[in-house]
Amino acid sequence: MVSTIVLAIVVAVVFTQIANIATTVYLHRALAHRAVALSPPLTLVFRFVIWLLTGIRPRQWAAVHRKHHAFTDEADDPHSPKQLGWRRVQLTNVMLYRAVARDPKQVARHARDLPQTRLDRWLLDHAMVGLAITTGGLVVALGWWAGVLAAAMHFVGYLLLSGAVNAIAHTFGERPYQNSATNLQWLAFLTCGEGLHNNHHAAPTSARFSLGRGQVDPGWWMIRLFERVGLAQVRHRQPVFVSTEVAA
Ligand SMILES: [Zn+2]
Ligand SMILES: [Zn+2]
Repeated sequence: MVSTIVLAIVVAVVFTQIANIATTVYLHRALAHRAVALSPPLTLVFRFVIWLLTGIRPRQWAAVHRKHHAFTDEADDPHSPKQLGWRRVQLTNVMLYRAVARDPKQVARHARDLPQTRLDRWLLDHAMVGLAITTGGLVVALGWWAGVLAAAMHFVGYLLLSGAVNAIAHTFGERPYQNSATNLQWLAFLTCGEGLHNNHHAAPTSARFSLGRGQVDPGWWMIRLFERVGLAQVRHRQPVFVSTEVAA
């Protein structure tokens, strides 16, 4: 009984971290910002990981996220803690995301370079199918309740960590650069680097989020690894800053 619960927790943590790697490397750094170009086979792997573990449609994610950068903490920001309060963004992030993601006009405006492909239309846009396959696979592997428990913990964990980047990493933490986002190393450890969010808003096209001494960005390690084996190409060797002023 106890060992089954432990197994379910371990599986959930592993799934959430795989989803976090796909989110930061593929959805965020490669697709939304073009900070790194991934090879077609690696892109395909990530598309399936995103479909199976998150149910996200990549072009919608990129559109919502680009809108966030275009209107950061202004009235049109899809998920601004300054406008809505950090608790609301933390807890209702998925609803705030959907309000923009489900609006075809906004997706077309912010992600016109990312058209729906045939693979999207036939398979990957069917989010519930991907999530059902994952949950069903876990039930087969771990048994009924442990499988459902592992799937639920993974989905909740992923949603809370994604919400934390938008809520906590725009509210609490260090601001070495002049923007409203913050750096939180503990959150960066949990989200494969996303917690270094102040750095990211300062240099959005940088594939590396760790810009200061002692900062750790596991997502950058993954990109370096992919680069070494010929599966990725980084856009800038040195970060290009949109705001070079350092906060007092
Ligand atoms: Zn942000
Ligand atoms: Zn970004």
